[in-house]
Amino acid sequence: MKRTAWSFFEDVLFPPRCAGCGGETETNRFPLCSSCNRALARNDSFFCPVCRNRIPYRGNACHESAGYAFGAAVDFNDPAAHRIIHALKYENRQYAAIPMGATIAEYVSATASFDPEDADAVVPVPIHGKKLAERGYNQSFLIAKSFARNAGIPSEKVLCRAVVKSRETRSQTLCVTVKERRENVRGSFSVASPEKIRDKNIIIIDDVYTTGATAEELAKTLKRCGAKTVLALTFAKT
Ligand SMILES: [Zn+2]
Ligand SMILES: [Zn+2]
Repeated sequence: MKRTAWSFFEDVLFPPRCAGCGGETETNRFPLCSSCNRALARNDSFFCPVCRNRIPYRGNACHESAGYAFGAAVDFNDPAAHRIIHALKYENRQYAAIPMGATIAEYVSATASFDPEDADAVVPVPIHGKKLAERGYNQSFLIAKSFARNAGIPSEKVLCRAVVKSRETRSQTLCVTVKERRENVRGSFSVASPEKIRDKNIIIIDDVYTTGATAEELAKTLKRCGAKTVLALTFAKT
């Protein structure tokens, strides 16, 4: 990994720590130690958003009704993945987003003939303004930035305000059934800049895919606005 003079000073001022185990790493540019990185088992296919069958990249999902394609880099129950997600979402360790985005980029490039030129826009799953004020950052936006950088997608294609979470919702973790989760997020997103969505191939980025209710709602919102294709990519799936 290339080290600039600035990154050298940064590493001296803020000694790099592994987002997985908290151990030392060589540089802040990639804060994941080699043993955590090796421990992270990558998926090698895409998945049907409806039934979770493994499907090839750009292959037809067995349930076409989903209206979007879905890929997740690793399994949520992988202990290394679990620790990294926890670091980002609950321990204010924003740097954990760097290896997450890099892992998604690596996964998608290895899984298939992914062409970064095909992506017109990258949309991180937006969070409500109140949540943003509480946490101080949108974890999906941080992951999306790292993903774009590692996948060769220009950073200006990462849209942080084109789609907003216009209605506050309960945490999805408080919803027991899939139906509840769907109802909880219904109508909660709105497109603020339709011209950036219409006729575009969009990649949605999120940290974890659980029931898919959030990705599904966001994909629907983008499709209603005229998005050409929607691909949801997450770091992990349950
Ligand atoms: Zn580690
Ligand atoms: Zn299916």
